[in-house]
Amino acid sequence: MTRSFSNQTFRFAPSSNGFLHLGHAYSALLNFDMARATGGRMLLRIEDIDLDRCRPEFEQAIYEDLDWLGISWEVPVRRQSQHFDVYAAALDRLRADKLIYPCFCSRGEIMASVAGKPDWPRDPDGSPLYPGLCKHLSEAERKRRLASGRPAAQRIDMAAALKAVGYPVGWREARGAGADGCDMTANPALWGDAVLARKDIQTSYHIAVVLDDALQGVSDVVRGEDLFMATHLHRLLQALLDLPAPSYHHHGLLRDASGQKLSKSLRAKSLRALRQEGLSPGTARNMLGSESIALSRIAL
Ligand code: GLU
Repeated sequence: MTRSFSNQTFRFAPSSNGFLHLGHAYSALLNFDMARATGGRMLLRIEDIDLDRCRPEFEQAIYEDLDWLGISWEVPVRRQSQHFDVYAAALDRLRADKLIYPCFCSRGEIMASVAGKPDWPRDPDGSPLYPGLCKHLSEAERKRRLASGRPAAQRIDMAAALKAVGYPVGWREARGAGADGCDMTANPALWGDAVLARKDIQTSYHIAVVLDDALQGVSDVVRGEDLFMATHLHRLLQALLDLPAPSYHHHGLLRDASGQKLSKSLRAKSLRALRQEGLSPGTARNMLGSESIALSRIAL
């Protein structure tokens, strides 16, 4: 059964810092199949804020690989590197609301300050929660350091942000809960005073992703479960910036024979390498079984 009308908008948002592998193909096909099944829109976004690691040849390869898989998307494609001003404006707003502060610490300084404290809490990625070294700098000291040109990241003041929102935020999650999904309550404090603007690029994945999803009218964020915990923070940012809450579907990850998730950094075989070895798009789709999974996981 296919819906003829839908306000649903899906997106696949790869980073152009390497070649796509089968895990990306799975996520892209899931989004594409859901968009088709619901009569919704399918968008592609290139997440290329990391100017050192992202390259035009990887971006070109994304287009070719998705096309080879039979996926189509609306143009123009949004490329995050063209919208640093949008992310900066949102950070300015958070700064004006006193919800972010500059942090001059190096990773080494943070590690040193929690060394010998084995019980120090860690964020969902396993990094120690920020111990607050720069949080309590005087305004004069902050100004002095900034004026001297010391590079600064921008961290959210989690306590102030939670207070500013003042109500519990949550989201609709389709993950592992059949077609009906379930309601999640966000616990952004798990991330502590997270970095919202990196020293090198003055923005972050978290800021860019929530702004772009809102600006592109994404109603359904379908992405890997490795980003499930990030959603706790994303929902807080959406509330702070008055952005709408999409529904989320965090899908399972493809794993290799040893149980490791496929990843660019672990050198999972790229789609183009598999293609050169003779894999056909039809076989890839059958291997991933995406259509049946997609259709069984959404309410049609
Ligand atoms: N760009 C992210 C990645 O390639 C995905 C972001 C998202 O879907 O929210 O892992």
